[in-house]
Amino acid sequence: VPVIGVLALQGDVREHVTALTDAGAEARAVRRAEELDAVDGLVIPGGESTTISKLVDIFELREPIDKRIAAGLPVYGSCAGMIMLATEVLDGRPDQRGFAGIDMTVRRNAFGRQVDSFEAPVEIAGVEGGPLHAVFIRAPWVERVGDDVEVLGTVTAGPAAGRIVAVRHHHLLATSFHPELTGDARLHAYFVDLVRAAR
Ligand code: GLN
Repeated sequence: VPVIGVLALQGDVREHVTALTDAGAEARAVRRAEELDAVDGLVIPGGESTTISKLVDIFELREPIDKRIAAGLPVYGSCAGMIMLATEVLDGRPDQRGFAGIDMTVRRNAFGRQVDSFEAPVEIAGVEGGPLHAVFIRAPWVERVGDDVEVLGTVTAGPAAGRIVAVRHHHLLATSFHPELTGDARLHAYFVDLVRAAR
């Protein structure tokens, strides 16, 4: 059984632990470098990317996480976690810093100009069984992806139609939305498979 950590500095950690467990992984909260050493994959939860960025430094996790990502650690970032994985952030705070694992430009609070939170069905490439019920909460969207980044899902209707909300770059996965809030563990199962394949 793959051991998957949830970065537990801020955000909806418990919901990811539950979803990962439902998807067949052993899930653990990660707050310290020693805990990071013991996982086969990592989830960066939704929350507030500026706060997570600060806490990553305070908990001295910046270098350990950068190193493990460079060494191929599978990471899934949801919402604030997606922002933490991007090489470029628009509408970010000048001092916020992520892990720059996925070559993409994300815009923080992008949907918020129309509406703070909304829900929509989103079809995800590689996830069987119909669209996911995607929950967006002050979510980012992706405005640019590098050549090596696979677009897995876009919004199909409404004012945000066409916006990219799920991407993958080899061992790194990111979504604008929060599958951990829906009781549907298919996206987490996709990540667990990715972690299994990387082991
Ligand atoms: N707006 C938050 C940020 O910029 C993300 C919101 C979320 O994770 N639900 O980090």
